[in-house]
Amino acid sequence: MMRYLGSIPLLRWLVLVAVVGSCVGCSAKGSSYVGRWECSSGGGDFLEIKANNGALLVTDEDATYPASLDDKGTLIVSVPLMGSLPLPIDSQSRELISSAGSCKRFNKVASSSSEKIPSKASSPPATADDEGATRGKLSSIRSALSIYYGDKDGKNPSNLKQLAEGGKYLDSIPKTKTGHHPESDAVYSACDTSQLSDKGGWAYCGDPTNKNWGAVWADCAHKDSKGVPWYER
Ligand SMILES: [Zn+2]
Repeated sequence: MMRYLGSIPLLRWLVLVAVVGSCVGCSAKGSSYVGRWECSSGGGDFLEIKANNGALLVTDEDATYPASLDDKGTLIVSVPLMGSLPLPIDSQSRELISSAGSCKRFNKVASSSSEKIPSKASSPPATADDEGATRGKLSSIRSALSIYYGDKDGKNPSNLKQLAEGGKYLDSIPKTKTGHHPESDAVYSACDTSQLSDKGGWAYCGDPTNKNWGAVWADCAHKDSKGVPWYER
């Protein structure tokens, strides 16, 4: 429903989640929202609503939005550029009503949010070999960074891609394959693992004023098959 907002970086969402914060009194009233909703008139539009640490999250096919309940128990979803969008439930039909997007009414089809959300971007499962290769690529980036650091008298590149310029430190930025995101050589900016975009690819701190200047992580907050979050690798 909010397709045109799809390009907003996840980082902003995380900031918004932090601003919206936990939702007081979510538990009982919020549970009527939790689950999967599909457009009553067909067309395949859906909303997935989850409770997460006292906050509510609304996911459509494009993105996840923070939400909270107002004092009447109506779910209010926060959409950047659009503001607050109430999603009341019709007390007669039990449909969820949205004033935004092409679908105005949604029917709840599942109470559990465990059902997999269809995704346009495929995330092929990562084998143990893939995981090992990704960890190896991470350590080769870190090695290249330390060589760069030595060459440049204690300076890190402002952008990770500088390592691959002219093929001097790396032939190219390698691709991650974590099994949770499409393979990616994208580099996102982060100076702390709490700032990860969790899109796959890499996260790099190019800020010389930050204590983590020169740090690089796999940009993934998911766990690998050994149960370790990728960003701890
Ligand atoms: Zn991830």
